[in-house]
Amino acid sequence: MLKGRELAAFRRQLLGWFSQFQRDLPWRHTKDPYRIWLSEIMLQQTRVAAAIPYYERFLLRFPDVHSLANAPQEEVLRLWSGLGYYSRARNVQKAAQEIVAKHKGQFPTRFDDAIGLPGIGNYTAAAILSIAYDEKQAVLDGNVARVLARLGAIRGDLRESQLWQELQESADSLLEPKSPGDWNQAMMELGATLCTPKSPQCLLCPVAQFCEGRKQGIAESLPEKRKKRATVEVVLAAAVFADGRGQTLLLPPPKNTKEKASADHVPTLVSRMWHFPTVSAAGEPRKDLIAFLRKELPEERNRSWELLPAGKVRHAVTYRAITLLPFLIEVKNLPRVSGAKHVPLADISSLPVSNLTRKAARAALATAGLARAKQ
Ligand code: SF4
Repeated sequence: MLKGRELAAFRRQLLGWFSQFQRDLPWRHTKDPYRIWLSEIMLQQTRVAAAIPYYERFLLRFPDVHSLANAPQEEVLRLWSGLGYYSRARNVQKAAQEIVAKHKGQFPTRFDDAIGLPGIGNYTAAAILSIAYDEKQAVLDGNVARVLARLGAIRGDLRESQLWQELQESADSLLEPKSPGDWNQAMMELGATLCTPKSPQCLLCPVAQFCEGRKQGIAESLPEKRKKRATVEVVLAAAVFADGRGQTLLLPPPKNTKEKASADHVPTLVSRMWHFPTVSAAGEPRKDLIAFLRKELPEERNRSWELLPAGKVRHAVTYRAITLLPFLIEVKNLPRVSGAKHVPLADISSLPVSNLTRKAARAALATAGLARAKQ
């Protein structure tokens, strides 16, 4: 890890290179969080050159968050048409509506508020807040991770949660606190233009002198290919509450911690998104889930619930083969849990949820339908 004068020189050289050689991109002429946010979402899974015309057309029609929030969804999707991944467009509009409803039309300045918006994860929130508001948040995505792995000659599977956490700490420590937005863009630009996946152009690199991967002659081989790990079977049990109005209860995204994630680490398995109350069920799933609910919902301790098995959901997350057993729990009133939300079970995607959670909702809905048909 660079410190003192070396760190100062590293920052100076990278920022100097960025200010001289950065590509002229339309979203680099603004500090408007709406425009920066839109560019970040469009650039997910889309090349810069392909995204630019869409970005410009979209802004002509929706120049601000209010116009996007109030537009018919069909029109938003039409202007997105061709970029693909339409969930991005839907989420952008849902987030715009939330920003208008809850944040007075202003993109939130707090990190926790930003990642609570549909379609916005850690990387996107850090990018927007640093560029628009100069918040000291270091970005970490695949590109930046590759650059950091080469700079530090870091081996191993970068997406493993422990290593990813260390890379985040490394990104945090390099961040230039006086200009975090430029800094983040400079790191991304280095990854996009010189420190590219296949053949890093170390001769042109402004920070080559600090690069351990180059010194050791292993830059091109980093990041290392992921080793295929033996599959680990994980069993989870989830409580899908449903009240008479079809509302269910979702718990908020678990916070990042430094604990080492085990194979059955629920926050990892729900992708740190909104989720049903879920427990790793190494023993008897129903009993494990009841014990978990009693512990996590202390105010409901004396309620007795009827847990209706809602089939089996199979899902894979990296090396884990997950069997999730959703239990439908029909109640008059949903439990009140601090930070939790009540949303329609048929539309849980109004909040950011993982595919695993979506599958559990579908299974529970099917079971609820069957139970009603039998009545
Ligand atoms: S010296 Fe090469 S490998 Fe190291 S950061 Fe620069 S481009 Fe990447």
